[in-house]
Amino acid sequence: MRKPGDLLAQRRKELLELSQAYRPRAASLTIVREKEQEEQEPAAARGAVAPEQRLQAREGWLETIGSVHARDSLLYLQGRCQGAGWDSRDKRTALALAADVTSEADLRELGAQIRDVHFGLHKAFADAVTFSADSFDVRPFREDPGRLGPLAGVWVYGSNLHGRYTGRSHGVGDACRHARSLGPGLERISLAQLLELEDFWQWNGPRCSFCSGWSGQRLTEEQYTHYLSATARPRTAAP
Ligand SMILES: [Zn+2]
Repeated sequence: MRKPGDLLAQRRKELLELSQAYRPRAASLTIVREKEQEEQEPAAARGAVAPEQRLQAREGWLETIGSVHARDSLLYLQGRCQGAGWDSRDKRTALALAADVTSEADLRELGAQIRDVHFGLHKAFADAVTFSADSFDVRPFREDPGRLGPLAGVWVYGSNLHGRYTGRSHGVGDACRHARSLGPGLERISLAQLLELEDFWQWNGPRCSFCSGWSGQRLTEEQYTHYLSATARPRTAAP
């Protein structure tokens, strides 16, 4: 009797591991050297950063992959922009937008503001301001939504959270290969509301098994501190 259940649990674990391995890989694939463009730019435009500092920033940002912490958003996007061949002006626009994000902002509107930039930069921006659901330990809160505290109001984005449309729900950015673009086509509800959507959490429901079907806005300091204590096992940012 227990065997099917055990096998299912094992498959789920494998899928989760696969999706966790996918994101850093997808991120690294979008990095293309921007040699020509960087050489054309005057040093002042880059802030005239010494080569060793640039190297440090590059190494530091890798640790922000998979982070749920809003504090890491800008460093992450800087890292993604550093080596990528996207238009320099577009990069600056996206970085400025990421620097100004508040926990109340509607990320769909921010995505719409930069809808004309390269799709790789658009995805990188989405990844910078959100976390993929598989980076977030939702278990303690599903068991007891009363433990959400300040996390109750975290904004959650997905393509089909309520299962109104054909197909499963997906998150944004590089969450999975079906992940949607950060824009007006997405649904937005609070994390507390998502936990109440029983249909969403069923195995055969609208939830994608790779990206878990949703992305959340990265956590403020207060939310992050609460998250760490509620999950009681501090997670390192990079796998
Ligand atoms: Zn998905």
